[in-house]
Amino acid sequence: MTTTTRQDCLALDRDDPLAPLRDAFALPAGVIYLDGNSLGALPKATAQRIQQVMQDEWGRDLIRSWNSAGWIDLAQRIGNKIAPLVGAGANELTVGDSTSVNLYKVLSAAVELVRADAAKVNARQRRLIVSERSNFPTDLYIADTIARAQGFELKMVEADALADHMNDDLAVLMLTHVNYRTGRMHDMATVTRAAHAAGALMVWDLAHSAGAVPVNLKGDGSDAAGADFAVGCGYKYLNGGPGAPAFVWAHPRHVARMDREQMRQPLSGWLGHAAPFEFSTDYRPADGIQRFVCGTPPVLSMAALECGIDVFADAEPFGGMAALRRKSLALTALFIDLVESRCAGHGLALVTPRDDALRGSQASFARAEGAYAIMQALIARGVIGDFRAPDLLRFGFTPLYTRFVDAWDAAEHLAAVLASGEWREARFNQRAAVT
Ligand SMILES: *Cc1c(COP(=O)(O)O)cnc(C)c1O
Repeated sequence: MTTTTRQDCLALDRDDPLAPLRDAFALPAGVIYLDGNSLGALPKATAQRIQQVMQDEWGRDLIRSWNSAGWIDLAQRIGNKIAPLVGAGANELTVGDSTSVNLYKVLSAAVELVRADAAKVNARQRRLIVSERSNFPTDLYIADTIARAQGFELKMVEADALADHMNDDLAVLMLTHVNYRTGRMHDMATVTRAAHAAGALMVWDLAHSAGAVPVNLKGDGSDAAGADFAVGCGYKYLNGGPGAPAFVWAHPRHVARMDREQMRQPLSGWLGHAAPFEFSTDYRPADGIQRFVCGTPPVLSMAALECGIDVFADAEPFGGMAALRRKSLALTALFIDLVESRCAGHGLALVTPRDDALRGSQASFARAEGAYAIMQALIARGVIGDFRAPDLLRFGFTPLYTRFVDAWDAAEHLAAVLASGEWREARFNQRAAVT
């Protein structure tokens, strides 16, 4: 039972060194936004930047802007701004396409590397791509498609059973760092080490961690994951806007090997070519991560994504990702406490780990009846989270702009929705296309 009061939360906000960052966002009045893990909020700088790109770069300068405004270098420039947030080196990460498409590229490349390894020593082919049954479905669909096309098999297992599959049948382990439903977080370094010890490659999806949780894909130090490939999402915690381009990273040793052994990623489009404006009929991959680019970048979306990423540079003087992580954990712990004490007896069951080391930046509660309608009733009150079938109320906490008092008020509204039973009203029980 927490004794935290609303006054306490206001005091936490007063003392929060990251509090000024909220000013970077255009948040509507009267809304408590707890869905930045699904669509990040709009940075104030974005609208003006898009206007400028439209009017000056596109409208006035027209096609010259590919050179004069640096459109052709956007993917690399933004990639280099995301890289430090996930522990990747300069020019190792690029931006474009969706998370699903980037996963297709890197998982295909990983499978090909494993196949080539076996062929070299005439070894029996490893057969399994292993992932978590509760991984985000698009990741599983993409993996299944690759497995079928390449003569592998997708094996879906429970998170607790991963250790049982670290053997010589494992080709690639593909996991999402933070689970989209439960918010449970894997220890990247430990899992990657186990996959490598089994002789397999490791692909990480950072959709629910990049921008909320410090990630060290490659770097130095004890938390360095030493991962092989990674992808991540631009429109969640990176605040890039609806449908923002995603990112893709490959360890330089794999890129170098793909180069040596003339391997390709499967979507070998012209902007991943070493010299696209030679218009050669032969595909010759560009150096480095650039070979994972396919076609023309969506410049307006890229411009919006860059504004979202730039907020993280503003956060550096306040302690950067480490400070954001501390605040994120404090917010989710507070919210869990408040909900459990104020909504006790209403059938909510926490599915998010209480252990800081295992928790991403969200809090999810299961409720056997009415979870969808309860979320709709909350949204009508201005508290925006989301519903994940069949029974989850999901609340994402974005430390860049969420306040401690927001956690308090959201828990209070949830308690009121449950106590009043207002969620039973017909208007809250009509399922929309997007939940
Ligand atoms: C959000 C999310 C995606 C999104 O994929 P898109 O191709 O952008 O639609 C993929 N994987 C995971 C784990 C996600 O959380």
